[in-house]
Amino acid sequence: MRARKPTGLCLGIESTADDFSVGISTFAGKILANVIDAYIPTEGGIHPREAARHHAEVAGKVVREAFVKSGLKPKDISIVGFSQGPGLGPCLRTGATVARALASYLRIPLVGVNHCVAHIEIGKLRTGAKNPVTLYVSGGNTMVAAYDAGRYRVFGETLDIALGNCLDVFAREAGLRQSSGVPFGAVIEKLASKGKNMIPLPYTVKGMDMSLSGLVTAATALVKKGGHELEDLCYSLQETAFSMVTEVAERALAHTGKKELLLTGGVAANKRLQSMIRAVAEEHIVKFDAVETQFAIDNGAMIAWAGVLAFRSGGVTPLEKSFVKLKWRLEEVDVPWMR
Ligand code: AMP
Ligand code: MG
Repeated sequence: MRARKPTGLCLGIESTADDFSVGISTFAGKILANVIDAYIPTEGGIHPREAARHHAEVAGKVVREAFVKSGLKPKDISIVGFSQGPGLGPCLRTGATVARALASYLRIPLVGVNHCVAHIEIGKLRTGAKNPVTLYVSGGNTMVAAYDAGRYRVFGETLDIALGNCLDVFAREAGLRQSSGVPFGAVIEKLASKGKNMIPLPYTVKGMDMSLSGLVTAATALVKKGGHELEDLCYSLQETAFSMVTEVAERALAHTGKKELLLTGGVAANKRLQSMIRAVAEEHIVKFDAVETQFAIDNGAMIAWAGVLAFRSGGVTPLEKSFVKLKWRLEEVDVPWMR
């Protein structure tokens, strides 16, 4: 006899940048599938239209895989969640189109999800954190956020490029190569572990915000000039950039008095960053958690879970309001389930 199907299921679609991903979550937060297909540019950074073309090409396959992995059929799904923003226009639109098509065909509700809210919510779901200060560091975002009065508030953020982007740009300029399964950040982490000498680089924290573009420019100039070991440059880049985000996270923790510190986003996989954030948590006697990589990088499961939370609070997105929001900020989103 087949096991009984859970009563509520959300299929979530993530497509804000380089990853196209489909996840399936029960209404109780059990993740039944999380299939991620990453676009890897042959050279240079992410080209939004190229990434969107990748998403369109793999969408059918990724949706199918999510059903195969979960053992579910399309008719079992109760709602469709999708990343409505923030992100790259062509990429967001591709995911939204797939989501609208599925929801219309299955005649089920569509739920637009804020990508940053989803990162925080899946982090809480997977670690058991209830009300953390979150350091979210990825290829496209770098922010310190925490809940206050109905919304997640941004306590500090990058004024220019994201931490992951900073590492990726430096890696490309240094002539390093990434492959599927070994992203640039991980390549730098490995080299940095062999570095010993700290080379002075610009450290820029302004109030609670940070600037990383001067840092990557300076590090890149040094790599081009020669005279330093690449290992030392990677080490110094990591130490400088990670100290900046750690300083901001620590101040947000002290200010809010929260008892949990959550690290997420693709860069959260970095062991050195984890140890720096863990040290802050220990000093303040708060709980530290780094989200598992498959749920820390851009993934469909987080959209499915955030879709469940929003839907249960009445957050259905009618088709005519399902346009994508490229600059949709975290603190614009009500999170009534946190009240
Ligand atoms: P995301 O934008 O969340 O999908 O994450 C991608 C970003 O995480 C890219 O900038 C990667 O270089 C970065 N990343 C992945 N693994 C690591 C690592 N071990 N250390 C630092 N950065 C990493
Ligand atoms: Mg990504």
